Amino acid sequence: MERSLIILKPDAVQRGLIGTIIGRLEQRGLKLIGMKLMQIDEELARKHYGEHEGKPFYSGLVSYITSGPVVVIAVAGANVIEVIRNTVGATNPAKAAPGTIRGDYAVSIGRNLIHASDKPESGEREVQNFFTDAELLQDFRRDTDRWIFEQ
Ligand code: UDP
Ligand code: MG
Repeated sequence: MERSLIILKPDAVQRGLIGTIIGRLEQRGLKLIGMKLMQIDEELARKHYGEHEGKPFYSGLVSYITSGPVVVIAVAGANVIEVIRNTVGATNPAKAAPGTIRGDYAVSIGRNLIHASDKPESGEREVQNFFTDAELLQDFRRDTDRWIFEQ
């Protein structure tokens, strides 16, 4: 069972796309186990994006992600990292396929609406950076799971 962290970035909140994007994730069949509206401070932004420190876009990225409220979501399920990355689309929206979230709603790499964990280890680390165990409904059962996951 994998866990993934999704962030609806400040541009998604400002543009009124929270419901649209969450709707797409729900329609895909993803099981959301945690969700909250928050503003990311600089310390958490630097921790979350530590792998990019030193790159030319790093300081702009930290300013962007801390610039306004975000919605953070934890998702659990088999293969959710790959499934979500494919639904989100390529990092650069100009290259993202139509039908993906970035390909349908964004145009610029520095305003690409959404974060999604890129591998199982990052998913675990990122979910733990943003949620306490008490904020996650790890074990809740959905009656639809057997219609979404072959078990
Ligand atoms: N980013 C940017 N310019 C770049 C590369 C990345 O502004 O040239 C930003 C963009 O918001 C991206 C984030 O940095 O989503 C993290 O980059 P990463 O390569 O991890 O892309 P992602 O995993 O979000 O697709
Ligand atoms: Mg990444």
